[in-house]
Amino acid sequence: MIVMKFGGTSVGTTDSIGSVAQIVACALEKQAARAPAASDGEPGEDSPGVMVVVSAMSGVTNTLIDAAQTAAAGDETPYRDARSQLLVRHQVVAGQLIEDGVERAALGRLFDNRLREFERLCRSITVLGELTQRGLDVVSGVGERLSAPLLAAVLRARGVKAQFVDAGELIITDDQYGSANPLMGPTLARCRDRLLPMLQSGVVPVVTGFVGATENGVPTTLGRGGSDYSAAVLGAALDAAEIQIWTDVDGVMTADPRIVANARSMAELSYEEVAELAYYGAKVLHPKTATPAVDRKIPLRVLNTFNPGHPGTRIVERTRELRHGVKAITAVRDLRLITISGRGMIGVPGIAARTFDAVARQHANVLMISQGSSEQSICFVVPESEGEAVIAALKEAFARELAQQMIEEIASQPDIVIVAVIGAGMKGTPGIAARVFSALGERGINVIAIAQGSSEANISLVVLQASADDAIRAIHDTFELGTE
Ligand code: ADP
Ligand code: ASP
Ligand code: MG
Repeated sequence: MIVMKFGGTSVGTTDSIGSVAQIVACALEKQAARAPAASDGEPGEDSPGVMVVVSAMSGVTNTLIDAAQTAAAGDETPYRDARSQLLVRHQVVAGQLIEDGVERAALGRLFDNRLREFERLCRSITVLGELTQRGLDVVSGVGERLSAPLLAAVLRARGVKAQFVDAGELIITDDQYGSANPLMGPTLARCRDRLLPMLQSGVVPVVTGFVGATENGVPTTLGRGGSDYSAAVLGAALDAAEIQIWTDVDGVMTADPRIVANARSMAELSYEEVAELAYYGAKVLHPKTATPAVDRKIPLRVLNTFNPGHPGTRIVERTRELRHGVKAITAVRDLRLITISGRGMIGVPGIAARTFDAVARQHANVLMISQGSSEQSICFVVPESEGEAVIAALKEAFARELAQQMIEEIASQPDIVIVAVIGAGMKGTPGIAARVFSALGERGINVIAIAQGSSEANISLVVLQASADDAIRAIHDTFELGTE
């Protein structure tokens, strides 16, 4: 059994949805040809079938979130516009790809009901004048709850036995709204009960990406871009033979193709490399995607809906080639660098512990830490959106040290980017950091701080936003990542 996840651009237009239906139909034929007749009922490598996971049509999640946020601020126009615009957008695709009038009418009613519900929710958000993360999860999951039934119906129109399934019935999560964590035990049980009978009778389940529900049935989401993670969770639950992520580029590339013109798709990456790349901003995969696949060693493959003949990138436990040491460059933007400094810090134990204690109480996400050997300063990087709260917490935690000038300053630098240089082959390859620095030095790019992760699959540099793209291109050129 394989899992095929299609992202927002893959289901963004009538044409692309048509291509998706074609790709699924082909995969199903291939699976049927190679799989032996129904096995012992266990999922896994030899079990037949295809499961589809789908994102909202491109831009829809943003529209929904904007509508809910403006509703909370008292503006009702955006959600009303969104309701009619989304109804039309989905109905146009249904009108063009589904001939059967009964099927089309049923789908139209489903769209209408979902969007009425969305409008009701936004109205209550306006009345309350407040948008909770829990409320936002209900609203932002509406896009997948429109696109998945649409794709299921398009597949049926093409002769594929397909059935829509809401992941709220399958992926059981904790209640960390906005980035909920799947609970594998109950998720596994639900997936087996609900999906195995479908797969065994040759039905393709078409499941909503991005969303889940708590054990009590309250809707949650897995975080922006979370449909990749949904596919991996579902694939792991049913022990899929492969988890395929279908997107709009030829696989995971050596750098973001929007920044580096000669970025190249990589044939193979390890789970570790892809996890580092995704964590440090490569949007092509959600950062947690590799996690469920690792334990069961399920290969992931990133493929292009708009170029389905391309082999894409295969992600496995161990890769065969180790090229140059460095394989890819990525970047996380919109960050703030916070520095605590003072000569009085030298030799005073516990400053670092108290710093990160204060940061943790703000639930801030620390992306990088660097401490000078002189112990006169500690610096670390947090998302810009969390910067103010972290600084306020630190000023409070160190009020006495600041008054006594043991700590001279808690400084903060906005417009920060972390550039991450990634490759498992950097382990034990000397001179990589030196080459990175001279590439940047030659172009006059200032490196504010540096850190090397303990995995040695990553060197991270802090640079100013204004020089980030130049830094990425310089490192890409130096290691000749654009050529095979
Ligand atoms: P989907 O809607 O299919 O989930 P995303 O927009 O989330 O697609 O991710 C695909 C996009 O990620 C690509 O179009 C590309 O612009 C961007 N991207 C950033 N870094 C990389 C990278 N290293 N490799 C491939 N794509 C990348
Ligand atoms: N639709 C969701 C988002 O835009 C999830 C996804 O696309 O993976 O974040
Ligand atoms: Mg994505």
